[in-house]
Amino acid sequence: MRVIVAGAGIGGLALALSLHEAGIEAVVCEQAASIRELGVGINLLPHSVRELDALDLLPALEAAAIATEALIYHSKRGQRIWAEPRGRAAGYGWPQLSIHRGRLQAILRDAVAARLGAEAVRCGLQLVEATQDARGVTAHLVRRDADGAHVELRGDVLVGADGIHSTVRRQLVPGEGPPRWSGMMMWRGVVEAAPFLGGRTMIMAGHIDQKAVVYPISEEVRRRGRSLINWVMEIRLGDGSTPPPRREDWSRTGRHTDVLRHFADWRFDWLDIPALIAATPEFYEYPMVDRDPLPRWSWGRITLLGDAAHPMYPIGSNGASQAILDGRALARCLVEHADPVRALRFYEAERLPPTTQVVLANRLMGPELVMQLVEERAPGGFSDLAAVISEDELRRYADRYKRLAGFAVDELRRPAPAAAGVY
Ligand SMILES: Cc1cc2nc3c(=O)[nH]c(=O)nc-3n(C[C@H](O)[C@H](O)[C@H](O)COP(=O)(O)OP(=O)(O)OC[C@H]3O[C@@H](n4cnc5c(N)ncnc54)[C@H](O)[C@@H]3O)c2cc1C
Repeated sequence: MRVIVAGAGIGGLALALSLHEAGIEAVVCEQAASIRELGVGINLLPHSVRELDALDLLPALEAAAIATEALIYHSKRGQRIWAEPRGRAAGYGWPQLSIHRGRLQAILRDAVAARLGAEAVRCGLQLVEATQDARGVTAHLVRRDADGAHVELRGDVLVGADGIHSTVRRQLVPGEGPPRWSGMMMWRGVVEAAPFLGGRTMIMAGHIDQKAVVYPISEEVRRRGRSLINWVMEIRLGDGSTPPPRREDWSRTGRHTDVLRHFADWRFDWLDIPALIAATPEFYEYPMVDRDPLPRWSWGRITLLGDAAHPMYPIGSNGASQAILDGRALARCLVEHADPVRALRFYEAERLPPTTQVVLANRLMGPELVMQLVEERAPGGFSDLAAVISEDELRRYADRYKRLAGFAVDELRRPAPAAAGVY
C-alpha cells in the first residue's frame, strides 16, 4: 500500500509517521521549496501528545516545548475569572505542550527523514489535481522551479493535507469559495521577555470582541531564566458578513499602530501587554477564518485531513491536535480494512463528527465563553466574582469543551493504541 500525502504541514508529516509505524509506505509532496520554521506559537493538547508519544516523539518535543501547567482566563481589566491546571498538573498522563509551530514542524520533518528516508518528503512539488481509477490514484504535480515540469505519482490512496486553501478540497467540493471570516482580526508575535506567572502559564483576557492570548513556548529559553512569549491579540473589525480586508496569508506582517491603539491600557500588575507588543520587532496579521463543516471527506480513494478537512478558529487550542488525531485514525483504518475505499469511509466516520463539533463549538467561543459572560454581566469589573458567575457554571463550561474536543482527563490516563490497533 502506498499513500500519497499532499502537504507537509503538521497534519501531513504526522500522518506520514503514523503510516510508517503501521507498515504503510508514504510519500509527502510539499509545494514549498523547503520546510522552513514558519509561524508562531501552537498548542498540543494531551490527546495529541499521547499520540505523538506513541510515535516516540515525546523526548524531542519536551526538550523544545513548554509543558504548560495552568490556563487562566481574565476579564479585560486583568481580573481573574477561572484558573485550571493543564497537562500533567491536571492529572493527564501526558503534558500540554506549547511550542513554536516551525519547531514542531522541524521535529516532525526530521523524524520523517530519519525513519522514512530523505526522499519521503518531496519539496517544491505542488499538487494541481488528483485523479483515481479502480486500481489507484494519480497525483498530478507541478515542479515549482524554473522548468515547471509536470510530474505524476501513482499510489493507492491520496490524502489532501494541504491546509485551509486545499487544492484537493477545491477539486472535491467545487464552488465552495473562500474561507468564512468571523470578523475578528488577529495579530500574532513571539518575543523574548521576563517570565510571567511562573513561566508555564497560558493566559487569556478580554471578551468576544477583544481578546489577548499569551503563553511561553520555549523550554530552552526557560532554562536560561527567560521566556519566549507567544502573543495573539484579537480585535473585532467586522460582523462576519463580509470577506476579510486582506486575504488570509500566514506570512503577512502587521503594524504596531494597528494593534497598540486597541491594547494601550492593558497593563496588568502581572503582565504589561502593550510593552510586549512594542518589544516585538516583527509580527503577523491573520483574519480568524474557518469553513463550514463538510458532510463528507472521502471520495473513493481520496480523502482530506487536518485544516483541509476541518479548518477551525484557533479557539480552545485544537487545530494542530485534531490534525494529528486524524492521521492516527487514518493509519489505523488503513491497517484494519484491506480495501482502501472502505478504510477511508471508516476514517471519515470516526473523525468527521467530532471535528465538526469542535468547529461549531469554536464559533461560539468554545471554553472561552465564560469571559464573554463575565463581560456582559459585569462590564465595569467586579469585586466578588461569585456574584457574577458561580464556580459550578465556570467548571461546567470548561469540562463540556474538554469532553467535546476529546481531551477529558478521565479518558487520557492510558497509552494510545498503536496504529495497528493493539495496546
Ligand atoms: C506557513 C504556516 C504558518 C502557520 N502558522 C500558524 C501559527 O502561527 N499558529 C497557528 O495556530 N497555526 C498556524 N498555521 C496553521 C496550523 O499549522 C494548522 O492550523 C494546523 O497545524 C493543521 O495543520 P495542517 O497540516 O492541516 O495544515 P497546514 O499546517 O496549513 O499545512 C498545509 C501544508 O500543505 C502545503 N500545501 C498547500 N497546498 C499544497 C499543494 N497544492 N500541494 C502541495 N502542498 C501544499 C502547505 O504549504 C503547508 O505546508 C500555519 C500554517 C502555515 C502553512
